[in-house]
Amino acid sequence: MVKVPVRLVSWDEIVKWSWGLAKKIRQAGYNPGVIIAIARGGYVPARLLCDFLGIENLISIQSQHWTEAAKKSERAIIKFEYKVNLENMKALLVDDIIDTGESVILARDYIIREWKPKELKIAALQWISPVAKIKPDFYYLEVKEWVWFQYPWTRLEDVTQFLKRMLTEESKNKKEWKYIEIIRKFIEWYGIEVDEEYYKEALRTLIEKGLLEKRDEIFIVKV
Ligand code: AMP
Repeated sequence: MVKVPVRLVSWDEIVKWSWGLAKKIRQAGYNPGVIIAIARGGYVPARLLCDFLGIENLISIQSQHWTEAAKKSERAIIKFEYKVNLENMKALLVDDIIDTGESVILARDYIIREWKPKELKIAALQWISPVAKIKPDFYYLEVKEWVWFQYPWTRLEDVTQFLKRMLTEESKNKKEWKYIEIIRKFIEWYGIEVDEEYYKEALRTLIEKGLLEKRDEIFIVKV
């Protein structure tokens, strides 16, 4: 039984979805002078949209809400406030996915108030329609059932957090694990498989952080 619904997203899908999103923006006749990527999730889609729409100007804003994969922190914040003047420009704010919508709402309000673009529209690869507090002007995929999309640019971070959560919870019953047992349990919990280097590097990180200890090929959970 999968405990956390996760859907692995490939680089090829990201390119395909970004093409689809670019097409929708072009068909709507929106021609922004600048793209604003929401850090960090919006970086790759924003860069691809620059390419596919022929846009040179790319800036960024860090609006952060989710601190851990599939586990949200209390509220969104703008991390580094700075000022740019967009008074004569049409802008496109880009994120990977709109889930609660809080990060994008916060970024939008900040940009309108502080950067004053002539017009601001929002684009995201995906929009989780039943939970989002906002509908983006442009999206490629509407998601009707919540899952955690494991994007390729956050694979190691997610796998590390997934393993940490799983091992912490499972340690109530089992503290000593062989590598193969960890992998089997990971697949059972999350329903995905990743390349071996991700598991290995994630486990190394958890050892470094003191959550795990490795003794004679056995991983011991230290909580
Ligand atoms: P939110 O403020 O809830 O709309 O989400 C803020 C950011 O967290 C998104 O731009 C993503 O980078 C990440 N995120 C939130 N929900 C998901 C999800 N279901 N799958 C993957 N990433 C997500």
